[in-house]
Amino acid sequence: MLPHIKGHLALPSFRVRAGGGSFESGFKHALVGAVSFVSISAVVLGIAPASVANSSGWTSTTWTGVRAGAPEPGVGLPPAPAPPGAPVALPPEMDTPPEYEGQAQCDPTPKPGTARLADYIRAVYGSQESVWIPRGCDVGGQSEHKEGRAVDWMVDVRDAQDRANAESFLNWMLGPDQFGVEYGNAIRLGIMYIGWNDRIWRGYDIQRGWTELKGCFSKSAKSSDNYCHRNHIHISLTWDGASGRTSFWDGTPLSAPFCPRNRSTAGPAPATRAAAVVGIGQFRVLSSRSGEGVGDSLSVAAGSMEG
Ligand SMILES: [Zn+2]
Repeated sequence: MLPHIKGHLALPSFRVRAGGGSFESGFKHALVGAVSFVSISAVVLGIAPASVANSSGWTSTTWTGVRAGAPEPGVGLPPAPAPPGAPVALPPEMDTPPEYEGQAQCDPTPKPGTARLADYIRAVYGSQESVWIPRGCDVGGQSEHKEGRAVDWMVDVRDAQDRANAESFLNWMLGPDQFGVEYGNAIRLGIMYIGWNDRIWRGYDIQRGWTELKGCFSKSAKSSDNYCHRNHIHISLTWDGASGRTSFWDGTPLSAPFCPRNRSTAGPAPATRAAAVVGIGQFRVLSSRSGEGVGDSLSVAAGSMEG
């Protein structure tokens, strides 16, 4: 889930920062890399983090239960825009709930739905916002960034406006949609999971709610901000979400998940859509459903949600 400067620089940059902000953007991501290193060092060395509070109203928490609850709203934050909704008329029918489809191959090229989500964030919160997608295949562990299915929106919980923007966006995505369905916009976008402010929310396990992310309630030092997603929101999309096929984008609800559940078991890929595509033979065919080419795209191993 963590952004890596090497991955971003090793690939064609998806995002072009408007105006003269390139230095700031580069600095911010260089800092992310440094913070990540410091964070790992702190964990290895067992350094006890100090409690932190700042003008944004953010304070660390030490609660370590299984269910974390949603991140508590910041206090005294500035106004922030809310997303305007879908670009098309939405049907009352809901898409099939997201399932866990962890990264299993490497094709970091941003997928259409992922790119649209990144564009959507910038359209609402400003073209200066940094939203990253691809990551190099040799950087870190399993991550949907390596399949162009994840975004890192660089918003900092310690920055009042950043936090206001982040919370406005999450409230819209996870709150009732225009039909009153909880998490409706997240389901319609094909959100697989979100990492933000010490917590993780799973679209594929909605009843579980927000839970603590990787022991972060006891890692309140600023040096753990990157590891604990306090300086960015990570959003992984299902293949359908990443392909832009969910109802948020085209107004048509999906009635079936992308792949059968047994795709995550070991062994040969089942005789599914992609297998049929392979049968075409010498043609390189792109799947309009997955955005992927033919090959081993369905030879999926069970994921551990690392990276
Ligand atoms: Zn990420």
